[in-house]
Amino acid sequence: MRVAVIGAGAAGCFCSIELKRRLPEARVDVLEKGSRPLAKVAVTGGGRCNLTNSFEGISSLAEAYPRGDKLIRKVFRSFSPEDTVKWFEDEGVELVLQEDHCYFPASQDAMQIVSLLLQRMRQLGVNVLTGRKVDSIRELFGEYDSVVVAPGGLPKPEGYSIFDGLDLEIVPPVPSLFTFNLPGSPVRELMGTVVEDAVASLAGTKFRAEGPLLITHWGMSGPAILKLSSYAARHLSDSGYKSTLLVNWLGGAGEGNARDILRAIAEKNPLKQVVNFRPEPVPSRLWTYLVTKSKIKEDSRWAEIGPKGMNRLVDTLLNDTYEVRGQSRFKEEFVTCGGVSLRNIDYNTLECKSRPGLYFAGEVLDVDAITGGFNLQAAWSMGYRVAQSISEK
Ligand SMILES: Cc1cc2nc3c(=O)[nH]c(=O)nc-3n(C[C@H](O)[C@H](O)[C@H](O)COP(=O)(O)OP(=O)(O)OC[C@H]3O[C@@H](n4cnc5c(N)ncnc54)[C@H](O)[C@@H]3O)c2cc1C
Repeated sequence: MRVAVIGAGAAGCFCSIELKRRLPEARVDVLEKGSRPLAKVAVTGGGRCNLTNSFEGISSLAEAYPRGDKLIRKVFRSFSPEDTVKWFEDEGVELVLQEDHCYFPASQDAMQIVSLLLQRMRQLGVNVLTGRKVDSIRELFGEYDSVVVAPGGLPKPEGYSIFDGLDLEIVPPVPSLFTFNLPGSPVRELMGTVVEDAVASLAGTKFRAEGPLLITHWGMSGPAILKLSSYAARHLSDSGYKSTLLVNWLGGAGEGNARDILRAIAEKNPLKQVVNFRPEPVPSRLWTYLVTKSKIKEDSRWAEIGPKGMNRLVDTLLNDTYEVRGQSRFKEEFVTCGGVSLRNIDYNTLECKSRPGLYFAGEVLDVDAITGGFNLQAAWSMGYRVAQSISEK
């Protein structure tokens, strides 16, 4: 049995280990175009490697995987997030679970994960061939019985030429996980301000995400924005990254609730200046900005603003509006939305329907997630499932 794995990334390396464990006699060649295997894993999670998530607080898989949730549900039956935790712990990696439900190695060092995987590959006799860029998958079939395609996200349409002659459906790639540019918006003067629980949405759409929001010197970022960029990745690409962003600074509170909060502050502090007494979750600089944006003078007192001023404040707090014009990458921590369409593959085995012996794993497929360890989890699970499928065959 001869197996070629294209790409020494998270999915390819994990797959090669699980393959050799099941089929020690097989020749497993990992073909890597770069000079270093697992180069991307080495920089994941800011060099700390957020390798999975407890999935607590995730109400449906589609919330974590805007593309590919049904496939992920299937592969988790073979290798779940709990299996990932157990796999790495059994290999001697101590893991820590953060309050935000993300798992990291206790060493806080992605190189521990890289070294472990490379060591296991060496011990098991996986051949890692660096500097080996595959240009055509078809050509590998004479030499190998099975080919595992794991080259990661291919952000440019040209990257898909390796599939030439295979007649695969490709979903055009667009970026996901980016921050929003708000050129000209005075809110950028508040850069560094964080609101722990905000809701960001796009006007006129159903796209909506909740979580911490960070104001930056170019616009807005933080988990709420990154999540929203993931949910709306294709919509935003189609609109040329022009959209109207709505922010609810009170974590999804409704109008009645917001009004009650403001009324309570007003009743308690009628002669105090509005800018000096604010709803708890809103930082003071942001509050001053929102008060001004609501056309309330900085020296106005709570008793003076009247019902109209109150209405404007409620509206700004719940539907603060910004014009998005462009996107920026978040610390280069982006993934590709789109790729090889899931219609090409058998969900049970990850084998290509039209080409037996051809398997797919990782971000090359039209599967991607929000931040939080979900993307690596998808790579481990798919790599594992492909190894299982090949060995069962
Ligand atoms: C900076 C950054 C930080 C991230 N942090 C996290 C995180 O903390 N947690 C998380 O879950 N996700 C994170 N992600 C996303 C995650 O890293 C990817 O989703 C994951 O690595 C995908 O795994 P993969 O095996 O499909 O592809 P990759 O890990 O990208 O590996 C693909 C490999 O294939 C090689 N290759 C490509 N084309 C060819 C070819 N034609 N021939 C031969 N080799 C080829 C590439 O050089 C690469 O080594 C991060 C992404 C980035 C960019």
